[in-house]
Amino acid sequence: MTIEARLSDVRAKIAAAEKAARRPGGAATLVAVSKTFGAEEIRPVIAAGQRVFGENRVQESQGKWPALKAEHDDIELHLIGPLQSNKAADAVALFDVIETVDREKIARALAAEMKAQGRSLPVYVQVNTGLEPQKAGIAPEDAVSFAGFCKRELCLDVIGFMCIPPAEENPGPHFALLAKLAKEAGLEKLSMGMSGDFETAIAFGATSVRVGSAIFGAR
Ligand SMILES: *Cc1c(COP(=O)(O)O)cnc(C)c1O
Repeated sequence: MTIEARLSDVRAKIAAAEKAARRPGGAATLVAVSKTFGAEEIRPVIAAGQRVFGENRVQESQGKWPALKAEHDDIELHLIGPLQSNKAADAVALFDVIETVDREKIARALAAEMKAQGRSLPVYVQVNTGLEPQKAGIAPEDAVSFAGFCKRELCLDVIGFMCIPPAEENPGPHFALLAKLAKEAGLEKLSMGMSGDFETAIAFGATSVRVGSAIFGAR
């Protein structure tokens, strides 16, 4: 299958999952995760109409996205990987949405950079729903108060929660937990679901799904 065929296959599956969940068409935005792939692989996906992309490394993104963004002024680039404070300035300059705010230090660094650059970006708080020690994200019990802190104290534009469920577990309960926490926090957006489970995530209310290998192929 060509990259274009895989993209349209994913889009069709998203539409079918929205319908099955009795949600309106377009309820779940596709974030095409292009990490490890170069501009040559990304261009056909842009040409097929895709505009929202996700990357997990700031430095890797700086190597390919400035040129692609110069070619298309309506690209929306999401940072979906862990962020270090010393990369906050670069991240705020290049990305349009930051999905991985998970601790006070990085929240403060982002808030300061957004102010300095005059760029107020929408952000998600990443929640470690499986409490995995090796995984980024704030503990579920702290997620609602942390989102409130980021909004009230730091004036960050927190729009939702993001999670990556443990690879070996049934993702449904994790998606349900994220949806419950977002409701409690009064947040509308839920970034959840990847190539293996985006249809399940849509059934649990995902407003965006982050799909990489199902579009670009194995990494
Ligand atoms: C790589 C990645 C994805 C996409 O994973 P696939 O299984 O290739 O769809 C989604 N979210 C995050 C945070 C990632 O790092």
